[in-house]
Amino acid sequence: MSELARILNVDDHEVARYARSRVLAKAGFDVFDCGLGEEALAMVATHTPDLILLDVHLPDINGLEVCRRLKAVPENASVVVVQITASALSPTHATAALNNGADAYITEPVDPDVLVATVRAMLRLRSTERELAAANKKLDSLNRELQRSNDDLKQFAFIASHDLQEPLRTIGTFVELMQESFRNRFQPDEEQCFTYVVEAAKRMRNLIDDLLVYSQVNRESDVKPAPVDLGNVIKWALDGLAESIFESNANVVAGPLPVVWGEKGGLVHVFQNLISNAIKYRRREHSLQVRISAERRSPEEWLIQVQDNGIGINRAYWDTIFVPFKRLHGRDVPGTGIGLALCRRIIEAQGGRIWLDSTVGEGSTFFFTLPAVASNGSLGPER
Ligand code: ADP
Repeated sequence: MSELARILNVDDHEVARYARSRVLAKAGFDVFDCGLGEEALAMVATHTPDLILLDVHLPDINGLEVCRRLKAVPENASVVVVQITASALSPTHATAALNNGADAYITEPVDPDVLVATVRAMLRLRSTERELAAANKKLDSLNRELQRSNDDLKQFAFIASHDLQEPLRTIGTFVELMQESFRNRFQPDEEQCFTYVVEAAKRMRNLIDDLLVYSQVNRESDVKPAPVDLGNVIKWALDGLAESIFESNANVVAGPLPVVWGEKGGLVHVFQNLISNAIKYRRREHSLQVRISAERRSPEEWLIQVQDNGIGINRAYWDTIFVPFKRLHGRDVPGTGIGLALCRRIIEAQGGRIWLDSTVGEGSTFFFTLPAVASNGSLGPER
């Protein structure tokens, strides 16, 4: 593409200008030239060059001024200007050229090879810049689109779950009432049918409640992070699970935990989910051990681990269990399959990642990262 680039060669010195145009034309560029500043400004508009070679000394307008005027027009921002300065004066002119918006300068006498190589390098740079700008624009628009569809989805999930709750509550309540009033008049198989309906209504209520919670978990842009002591987070999480920890006789041990940059409520939820899963999916014949630890993975990041010695998870499901409502278990184990999806949403909204490692029959370790608090005392994550 650079071989087809258009170059405007501006120099009032005819011999030098001719020689330069020849070299560039021979190198495969589309070259046109002129000897005056005013002419150059007019030709930029008509010929839309990709690059301008601009001599500093022009009889009408100084080359530095031409460059300044040219760059003042927003449409010309991406035109590369290479200023040609006289070697004796180059330090002053070079600085002035760059300060006036030139992208580079070369000094006279200009070596033909240096000229071609400089032009090629500058055009390469410009084309990379353009590609980058185009990619950024695309990314921006994709981000906006994603945000819009996320908002729509969130709104939909909120309305759907909210509006579904009411009729479902009515169904549940009346079916239970009917079950009560007809209890002694039912045949056993009819009684069983009613039990199925009541249970299905309960399950659906749980699903809808979870969908509502999931739809309300903050996106990254909504999270208001602050320094959070994970030691306290674990205490709150364990308090909420005291009963099931007691019943399952689980041994939950947490090592020293850091202060991280995150949001307390979400993190309590993550630990509660992971520990309650460890309890739900324990091996009944073994006493459950849950270990929670943290290590500084880099100046910017902490790695947290929640390890259990439960039933483990087949590698084939390591990704899919983070998808909403994906379960590997039937109704014999309570749950809706939203827990890990929520964990992922919370952790990602706080700038981290979550994944796992597991051996079937031996146990699972869930890993997640969280931003470290800035060590320079400023309130924010370490960068
Ligand atoms: P739920 O527990 O409600 O099914 P989750 O999203 O929390 O939903 O988990 C998804 C699935 O991942 C579970 O159904 C279970 O099969 C599996 N799982 C999660 N945590 C563990 C664990 N610690 N050990 C073994 N399996 C697990």
